[in-house]
Amino acid sequence: MSLSPVTLRRDGTVAVLHIDNPPVNALSPATVQGLIDGLKAFEADASFTALVLHCEGRTFVAGGDIASFDIPDFSATPFNSFLARLEGQARPVVAAVHGTALGGGLELAMACHWRVATPSTRVGLPEVKLGLIPGSLGTQRLPRLAGPVLALDMMSSGRMVDAKTALAAGILDEISELPPLQAAVARAQALAAEGWTLRRASALAVPADKIPDGFLDRTIADAAAKPQYPALGAIARSVVAACTLPFAEGERAESENFMGVLRSPQSVAMRHLFFAERTANKIPGLPRDVTLREVQRVGIVGAGTMGGGIAMTFANAGFPVTLVEATDAALQRGVGIIRANYEATVAKGKLKPEAMAERLGRITPTLSYDDLAGCDLVIEAVFENMDLKKEIAARLGAVCKPGAIIATNTSTLDVDQIAAATGRAADVLGMHFFSPAHVMRLLEVVRGAQTAPGVLATVMKLAGRIGKVAVVSGVCYGFIGNRMAEAYMREAEFLLLEGATPAQVDGAVESTERLGLAMGPCRMLDMAGIDVGAKTVIELDKSGGLPADPSYRVLVRALFERGLFGQKTGAGYYRYDGRKPLPNPDVEALCIELAARHGITRRSDITPDEILQRLMFAMVNEGARILDDGIAYRGSDIDIVWTAGYGFPDHRGGPMCWADLQGLGNVVAGIERLAATCGNAHGYWTVSPLLVRLAQSGGKLREATAPGVK
Ligand code: NAD
Repeated sequence: MSLSPVTLRRDGTVAVLHIDNPPVNALSPATVQGLIDGLKAFEADASFTALVLHCEGRTFVAGGDIASFDIPDFSATPFNSFLARLEGQARPVVAAVHGTALGGGLELAMACHWRVATPSTRVGLPEVKLGLIPGSLGTQRLPRLAGPVLALDMMSSGRMVDAKTALAAGILDEISELPPLQAAVARAQALAAEGWTLRRASALAVPADKIPDGFLDRTIADAAAKPQYPALGAIARSVVAACTLPFAEGERAESENFMGVLRSPQSVAMRHLFFAERTANKIPGLPRDVTLREVQRVGIVGAGTMGGGIAMTFANAGFPVTLVEATDAALQRGVGIIRANYEATVAKGKLKPEAMAERLGRITPTLSYDDLAGCDLVIEAVFENMDLKKEIAARLGAVCKPGAIIATNTSTLDVDQIAAATGRAADVLGMHFFSPAHVMRLLEVVRGAQTAPGVLATVMKLAGRIGKVAVVSGVCYGFIGNRMAEAYMREAEFLLLEGATPAQVDGAVESTERLGLAMGPCRMLDMAGIDVGAKTVIELDKSGGLPADPSYRVLVRALFERGLFGQKTGAGYYRYDGRKPLPNPDVEALCIELAARHGITRRSDITPDEILQRLMFAMVNEGARILDDGIAYRGSDIDIVWTAGYGFPDHRGGPMCWADLQGLGNVVAGIERLAATCGNAHGYWTVSPLLVRLAQSGGKLREATAPGVK
């Protein structure tokens, strides 16, 4: 028989319900049952004068049991009934809060009569981040305690507030420097001794003067403006119920609203991403006891767009950085951009001037490769050119100290070739940051054929220290993200040659009803640089990797030849008025010319649905091939790449999850239809075997793994 995570203990006359469910004391079904049993034992023992709730370890209950939401007959009723019974006790019930009281944890604390917390405590109701709403009366108790304005803000953003704010708002009753259990027991004894009138949140009303004029209408309207997040609407309706209805009716409203979002595709997608992120750093085949290498000083070669952003990323995380450039002019320009970026952050009030000085002070610019000799990790971020990369790899192989890790930030090139050029391939891997590198969360870690396990494990761990989410990719053109983006860009360009405008192509995938990408393909490439995009196609061509299709990505190369690099030159797919994209007549003329040259018929009947399907099916099909090829370990890793690196909307869960929610049978049929209508001479629309297998077996792409990966 397994031991319950909850025990009822005695501390003098006070009963202590003690929760010990590592790592974060989540409300598993066993924990809820333990609480119910413990409360019964308390009720049965009249010798106790009060009850304290306390958690073992680093935190109070930091959330519900997210996996249990997937159980088909999941019900919040047992826990909610427990909370009602807890709050209904006639003897004082005190919560001893420390760490982070989140979700069900804060709901538990709010059902107690008094909340004492440590100064470092933070509290929040982050359910919205999973496409959910608090389902255990959080939407009803929080507005009653903290007022509806702060409650709505906390629940709609999912943000935590610190102990001081929570005390001032009435969410906490007391902050104590004492150990939480000691403080809570002392408070419980005092409340019992003085015959304190118990304060039950459910018995409070939201004071009318805490509801600003027009607040309720605005709350509903603001949520309605973001229909892609139905949880926002459900939170808004629940808060309105808390302000206008008795507790029991508010409880019914919350329950209805909770059930309404629990099975929504948005919540399915967001819960999938929650687990996907936690799975991504599990690397198959890596020995558990692998020795990590120490990383204290970081070197970066190239102070361009990426090198500068990477230098900031490490400097922000406290690492000393040596930044090497080829010429003094490039070095000065690179450092100037870094400084300007920091100054902009200071001007926005998001960084203190002293902190900026500290961060800048960590970056040492130099023209000498010898200065890299003391670095534990060196990341190369020079132009995307194989010959140059190999030349620099050889220099790094010689100058870096034994045991130092050498990484390349290449977007598409063969990491194994670069690794070989160092003469120490075991020390080498790809660290593919995304632009702007100090902002985007994704880090694709490219595992070369020779990469030592310790090198891979070190960099995966390091990713967490610099605030990135890391996904491992094998070596292939473009790795996971850019290889899929290549298929997606291919279709975007064909659509432009066939007669769609950049605004139509972008609009189809940016529309929140259809998909909701932060940026469609044309805007994205205009921002990233058409020169950068064209060079990757040119390099792929040099390596013999292009399909035998003379019309393949001719447009990006033609734009490049004409110096239309996108935002940086004021024109690309669009022309720019500041940052505002406007139609570029030169592009239309170019598309007409290229279509004629390649025998592509232009038409005026291209619909947003066709655009969406061609872009997304191309991307999904390539994703399935990437899995089958063993380049990505898991479908869920692919979804992290796209949501953390490419602005794919979280409420769609990434392209693999998107495909699952379309129905894989529909995706396969759609690709077959495109093969028939667009032609399949170059294999663009040959359905990936994995997709066929999953569609037949009823499997899911987001749960699929590469061969041999469990
Ligand atoms: P960039 O042109 O902005 O910067 C490249 C820098 O490398 C320049 O400042 C150049 O002076 C410097 N350089 C060239 N030769 C050098 C040498 N021998 N020693 C030291 N420095 C040298 O290019 P970028 O956009 O920063 O791209 C750099 C790398 O990052 C490329 O491999 C690119 O594919 C990759 N990348 C780019 C992006 C993006 O969106 N721009 C995203 C991810 C990865």
